[in-house]
Amino acid sequence: MLNNKGRVTQPPTQEVLQDISTVSGHRGLSWEEPLIFENGGLDQSGVDLPDVPETDSKLGDLARTEDIGLPGLSEPEAVRHYVRLSQKNYAIDSGFYPLGSCTMKHNPRLNEKMARLPGFSDIHPLQPQETVQGALGLMEELSAWLMELTGMAAIALSPKAGAHGELCGMMAIKAALEAAKSKRDIVLVPESAHGTNPATAALLGFKVASIPADEDGTVRAKAVQSAIADNGADQIAGIMLTNPNTCGLFEREIKAIADAVHEAGGYFYCDGANFNAIMGRVRPGDLGVDAMHFNLHKTFSTPHGGGGPGSGPVVLSSRLAPFAPVPFLRTEGDTLTLVEHEDEAQAKGALPFGRLTAFQGQMGMYVRALSYILSHGLDGLAQASGDAVLNANYVRVKLKDVLNQPFGDQTCCHEVLFDETSLEGTGVTTLDIAKRLIDEGFHPMTIYFPLVCKGAMLIEPTESESKASIDQFVTTLRALVEEAKSEGDEAFHQAPVLTPRRRLDETGAARKPILRWAGE
Ligand SMILES: *Cc1c(COP(=O)(O)O)cnc(C)c1O
Repeated sequence: MLNNKGRVTQPPTQEVLQDISTVSGHRGLSWEEPLIFENGGLDQSGVDLPDVPETDSKLGDLARTEDIGLPGLSEPEAVRHYVRLSQKNYAIDSGFYPLGSCTMKHNPRLNEKMARLPGFSDIHPLQPQETVQGALGLMEELSAWLMELTGMAAIALSPKAGAHGELCGMMAIKAALEAAKSKRDIVLVPESAHGTNPATAALLGFKVASIPADEDGTVRAKAVQSAIADNGADQIAGIMLTNPNTCGLFEREIKAIADAVHEAGGYFYCDGANFNAIMGRVRPGDLGVDAMHFNLHKTFSTPHGGGGPGSGPVVLSSRLAPFAPVPFLRTEGDTLTLVEHEDEAQAKGALPFGRLTAFQGQMGMYVRALSYILSHGLDGLAQASGDAVLNANYVRVKLKDVLNQPFGDQTCCHEVLFDETSLEGTGVTTLDIAKRLIDEGFHPMTIYFPLVCKGAMLIEPTESESKASIDQFVTTLRALVEEAKSEGDEAFHQAPVLTPRRRLDETGAARKPILRWAGE
C-alpha cells in the first residue's frame, strides 16, 4: 500500500479478504444494506399522528382505496439507511476521480459557505425584484466574468446542464436562421464529438453530417471545407465543434474552420465543456465562435455527478445576442431587472427564441462559480488551467511506455487518451482494467469514450489533484498493465472482488431496467 510519501505499508492480501465470510453479511464496519422496502417498513411509521377524523371526501373516484405502499422507518433507522447507502458511494471527497470529460475537481468549501449565505439561499424566484438586487448583482457579475473570459457579447445564464446549454445555443442559431428566412438545415459534427452534440442538432430538426478526424486526432479545415462542398454551402446551418476536443487535444485549425463555416453562411457552436484546459489563456470569441456553453459544474468547481445540479450558461456572439432566451438581465439606472417576458423583451428590441427554464436557473451554482472565480482571479484561473494541463501530461508521460496514445506521442490538454492496443494478446480489456482499479480504491477513468479509438481510457486528473495522489494512481495503473502483460488475464476477469457487488450485467441494467420494487 502506498502512503502519501510513496512508502509501502503492508496490506492484507486479496485472497484473505475475498475468502472471509461473516455471520451478518456485513464486512468490517461496512453494512450490507437491504432496500428500504426489504427492511420491513411497509407497516411502520416514524411519526405518531392522531387518527384523522372521518370527513366527506371531495375526491370522488379519485380517492385512494388501497394502502399507498410506502415504507416507513423510525428516524434513527431512516438516518442509518441513507448514511449506509451514502457510504457505498464514491465521491471526489473520498479520493482520486479521473473520469475523463467530466472534470471531477475539488469543490472548495468556501464556495459552499458563500452559497449558504441567507441573501442567496433563502430567497424565492417570485420575490419582487427590488428585494433581490444583491442576487441579481451576483448574476450580473458572474455574467461579466464569463463574457470577459470568452470575449463574447451576450449570455444566457439559465440552461441547467451542458447538454441544455447546447440546446440553448443551437436554438439561438435556429432562431437567427429563421429570422433570415433561411432553410439551412445541416449541422457538421466531428466524429469525436460528445454524443450530446449530434443529439442536440437532431432534436432541433437539423440533419447531422459527420466529419472525420485526421491521424493526429484533430479536425482539419480541409475536411470541413470538403464537407461544406459535399453538402452544399447554402445548406450549412453551422458546425458543432468541441475545443479542446474529446481526445484532450486542442483543435489547432479552429480559426480556419470558423472562417470556412462563416464563409458558407453558417454559425459556429463550440462545445465548451472542456474550457478547464484553456480558461484565462485563449478567448473563444477571438477564434470565431458564435455560441458556447460552459459547464459550471466542471470548469468552475460546482459539485456534480450525483452531488449537485448542473449549470450550463451559454455565451453568444453579437450576431446571436438578440435571440438569447428570457429571462435576461438589464441595468436601468441603479436597478437590475430580470426581463422575464417575451413581449417585454421585444419592446426593448430583442428577439428571444423563448424560455428554457421555469425561473432564472441554478442560483446556488452561480454563487459557487463566482466564488471560485473571485478566489482565483484572472491570473489564478490561468494557473488552474495550466495546472490541469500539467497534471494530465504528467500522467501521460508516466504511462506512455506501457500504454498507447492512439494519436501518437503528443502533448495533451486537460485529459490524456490511451487505447487498448498495448493489451493486445493478454486477454485483458479496458473494462477489466477499470474493474481492477475499483478493487484498488480508484474510481476508473472514462472508458470506451471517445469512440474514435479501440478501448479508450480517458484520464482527467484536474488541477486540484496533488502529485502524491496522481503518483499513487499512476503506480497502481502501471502495475496492473504490467501484471496483464506478464501474468495474463486470470485475476482480471474476476474483478472487482472487494466491492459489495461483483461485476454487474451493465447491458441488462441499461436495456431492461427494473425501476420499481415489485414486492416479495
Ligand atoms: C460533459 C460534457 C457535455 C454535457 O454536459 P452535461 O452537463 O453532462 O449535460 C457535453 N459535451 C462535452 C464535451 C462534455 O464533456
